[in-house]
Amino acid sequence: MKKSAPDVWDDLRNQVEFLVEAGAGFVFRRPEDEVKIAAREGEVRSQPAAAPSLPSLRGRPAQTDAERKALEEIDRQVLVCRLCALHRRRTHAVPGEGDRSAELMFIGEAPGRDEDAQGRPFVGRAGQLLRRIIAAMKFREDAVYITNIVKCRPPDNRVPHREEEEACSAYLVRQIELIRPRVIVTLGKTPTDYFVPGREGMTARRGHFGDYRGIRVMPTFHPSYLVRNEGNRELKRMVWEDMQQVMALLGRK
Ligand code: URA
Ligand code: SF4
Repeated sequence: MKKSAPDVWDDLRNQVEFLVEAGAGFVFRRPEDEVKIAAREGEVRSQPAAAPSLPSLRGRPAQTDAERKALEEIDRQVLVCRLCALHRRRTHAVPGEGDRSAELMFIGEAPGRDEDAQGRPFVGRAGQLLRRIIAAMKFREDAVYITNIVKCRPPDNRVPHREEEEACSAYLVRQIELIRPRVIVTLGKTPTDYFVPGREGMTARRGHFGDYRGIRVMPTFHPSYLVRNEGNRELKRMVWEDMQQVMALLGRK
């Protein structure tokens, strides 16, 4: 599908806006900033869910028609799913969107208010920032796949409970098996703990590729954390550094 001129303009504007926000190329890291960020981050969860060990997905055999259909079927199942208590208060479940054979997948935590209202992932303020980041990476947003570890909104946007993550992650695991991305970007602590568990905070874990069944996983800060710390360019610069590693791995740099 060819993009219209206004869409191309929007992409370019998003791309440039995020690069300016991130101070790409001309902001230098001061070690004391890292410490301040680590102190602010301090969100601690008791017992995060972690992925069970499953066979490798290394290599990328071409997707079959049956697999494409299976992905559509997952979306339909998610929309009517009642596997956990989060179904009771949702307006819409949010299966995910984008290219169902994307090389690059972004995984967030759970839908928020805007996502629950629209049935689409990352459409609120944090979502707009994520979409600017994707544009800055020179990807069209419909060329990547965007989803969450939990598909229904937790009340008051609380962190999903372990049982909810365990129930819902079956859908995500299946989506990953069928999409077989080359790289997954985990946004914030919840999906990072699931795919590349670790004891350190996000400041230490971001920027280092991990591995989930042969797929490279890049943890980075959640865009809503960037929104909450709006004036902090250093955070954006770090996210941009992480995304540049992803671009390099995908031959986009
Ligand atoms: N935050 C998330 O983690 N996911 C969304 O879809 C929106 C906000
Ligand atoms: Fe089903 Fe996931 Fe929604 Fe729970 S959060 S009801 S498991 S789709």
